[in-house]
Amino acid sequence: MGKFIYLDNAATTKTAPEVVSAMLPYFTDNYGNPSSIYSIGGTAKGVVTKARERIAGTLGAKSNEIYFTAGGSESDNWALVATAEAYGAKGKHIITSKIEHHAVLHTCGYLEKRGYEVTYIDVDENGIIKLDELEKAIRKDTILISVMFANNEIGTIQPIKEIGAIAKKHGVLFHTDAVQAYGHVPINVDEMNIDMLSASGHKFHGPKGIGFLYIRTGVKIRSFIHGGQQERGRRAGTENVTGIVGMEKAVELAFAHMEENTKKQRELRDYLIRRIKEEVPYCRLNGDFERRLPNNVNYSFQFIEGESLLIMLDMKGICASSGSACTSGSLDPSHVLLSIGLPHEIAHGSLRLTVSEENTIEEMDTVVAAVKEIVDKLRNMSPLYEDFIKRQDK
Ligand SMILES: *Cc1c(COP(=O)(O)O)cnc(C)c1O
Repeated sequence: MGKFIYLDNAATTKTAPEVVSAMLPYFTDNYGNPSSIYSIGGTAKGVVTKARERIAGTLGAKSNEIYFTAGGSESDNWALVATAEAYGAKGKHIITSKIEHHAVLHTCGYLEKRGYEVTYIDVDENGIIKLDELEKAIRKDTILISVMFANNEIGTIQPIKEIGAIAKKHGVLFHTDAVQAYGHVPINVDEMNIDMLSASGHKFHGPKGIGFLYIRTGVKIRSFIHGGQQERGRRAGTENVTGIVGMEKAVELAFAHMEENTKKQRELRDYLIRRIKEEVPYCRLNGDFERRLPNNVNYSFQFIEGESLLIMLDMKGICASSGSACTSGSLDPSHVLLSIGLPHEIAHGSLRLTVSEENTIEEMDTVVAAVKEIVDKLRNMSPLYEDFIKRQDK
């Protein structure tokens, strides 16, 4: 594999070398099962406990409120399904937003088929949830509000504290999918009135297949995986010790360097945003400019197909992502881009670039040059663009 420029950090991140080193001894020497009584079992149990404490500390939570899972999708599924089951006698109404990750939206769809009712709240043209609509949607039988902390496509950061306050005022539980936010922006579960929070290791330089769900003490939530007594009987299965150790190291690094990483990412992000805006005509920045993840750039380019753009960027060694779901076999553009009001044809021409602190300005220069060249090439092949230019000339 030659050199490439990786700008898809919302999809996954590179596992930090320190994370890999931290994990290795738990494959080779300390491979014990945390449930065993001999010493290497005890060692494994000890590191799991230590990781739980560290993670709890980053959220202002207690360590017995952190439950290890196999990642963001499992945490989202658990939070929604198990809350629905535990509180189903009180009510069967759930509120979420139209721009959630599929791990939340498809779980809501699953619950709808099982007799639950779900209200999907609109977002404004920048992708910020409409708080008045959210509050009006609350009914006597509402048991849960689930709104993501930050959006994975357009980077919008939601007014989480305000949503938490509304949920608390009405006595409704509040879950947030913080997979894009945790390890990147500060979060405090008490200040923000968060009852449940999902996070995933591989979105902040940890390993894949490990994450956690924060569950506030007192929330009645059923176990999701049935079996042994691991995770206080709520999530059975021998702990992913190596994954937990790796995620802990990633947490340590992310929180120790959050300020400088944010600053670096913002510089790269804003440089990309500015240069694309200045140098590529007929484009539109998607998402809120202010309330935005430090690593997210999302542009729509008129008269082109995002998929073609991606393929041609890939030929130049640039890893990016588009706003359409063509790759997953569907021709529909992303539900997020449609929810912020983009027409289908504009949504189809979208490009997501998500930086990490390891990227450089030189790489951004290469990317801008490539985007300019490819957009130009694609437009010159487009009959729509030809028509448009003819009309402009008249
Ligand atoms: C990546 C992602 C998920 C899924 O996390 P996995 O660990 O890959 O299962 C869920 N929600 C959001 C917002 C994400 O970005």
